[in-house]
Amino acid sequence: MTATPLAGQQPAAAIRAEAAARAAELTAAGHQPRLAVVSATTDQSSAWYVRSIARAAERTGLRCDVHELGPDAESPAVRERLAELSADGSVHGIILQTPLPAGAALEELASAIAFEKDVDGANPLSLGRLAGGLPAFPPATAEAVVALLEHHRIPLAGRRAVVVGRSTVVGKPAAHLLLDRDATVTVCHSRTADLAAVTRTADVLVAAVGRPGLITAEHVAPGSVVIDVGTNPTPDGGLTGDVDADSVADVAGALTPVPGGVGPVTTALLLRHTVRAADRLHRAA
Ligand code: NAP
Repeated sequence: MTATPLAGQQPAAAIRAEAAARAAELTAAGHQPRLAVVSATTDQSSAWYVRSIARAAERTGLRCDVHELGPDAESPAVRERLAELSADGSVHGIILQTPLPAGAALEELASAIAFEKDVDGANPLSLGRLAGGLPAFPPATAEAVVALLEHHRIPLAGRRAVVVGRSTVVGKPAAHLLLDRDATVTVCHSRTADLAAVTRTADVLVAAVGRPGLITAEHVAPGSVVIDVGTNPTPDGGLTGDVDADSVADVAGALTPVPGGVGPVTTALLLRHTVRAADRLHRAA
């Protein structure tokens, strides 16, 4: 068997087109959606990611400001900038870029992002609301998992989904979103006993670990759908996933590529969230 590739470019383009249409209407009404990215790092892959968000935002008709606080910025300065942007009525979406200053906790800093503007679901309040079934922006990567599955018309209701990884950024919110779509969800982590025995029960397997090639053919049920969230840098400057694509493609029914799977959908969803935040904030004003 050779797994069908579940590419992200097409769903990403559809999400961007919808966001661009609404952004144009809001801009015509004098409310151009505006995204702020706060960064306190010189990390190369972070810089590449921020540039790609800024380019995608501009192409979609959003304004995007990058607030570079420098690698020496300490937590209070980051927190203060997030609070200022939260209070600024012309800003609709706020992203706090990682890595953070040494010793800083994402949850602590991100709680300074107003939850209405928390377009990457980083404020713990957003995860709590998501878990409680209340409106909130989920972390874009977690939502990208579900958006990809829905775009490719992969049914979730009543199916067994296994998520490997329990971070607040990907694993836990992805599990909530799958549960919301009536999948029967199991979450695995570094202390899970006999990982392969659990993952082989999955109709839909989501790998969000950060370990290149952790998921091999022995972890995958024949014909199942595998979503690879991992983005691990390779020595030649490329990216590789958490799934050993060569072996898994012979067993799975469908598999997302890395790069070009979850990543483009994640960026598109950040833009959609910012446009929705702009829409809501101006309706409420
Ligand atoms: P993270 O915070 O480091 O969490 C990793 C999770 O994997 C933890 O829950 C950990 O378990 C679990 N884990 C580690 N080793 C394991 C093992 N051998 N078996 C089973 N579980 C194991 O990472 P993250 O932020 O969620 O990111 C995960 C991956 O997604 C990374 O490759 C990251 O680069 C990628 N990512 C991609 C995007 C995108 O847009 N495509 C966005 C964000 C992240 P414990 O909880 O027990 O430690």
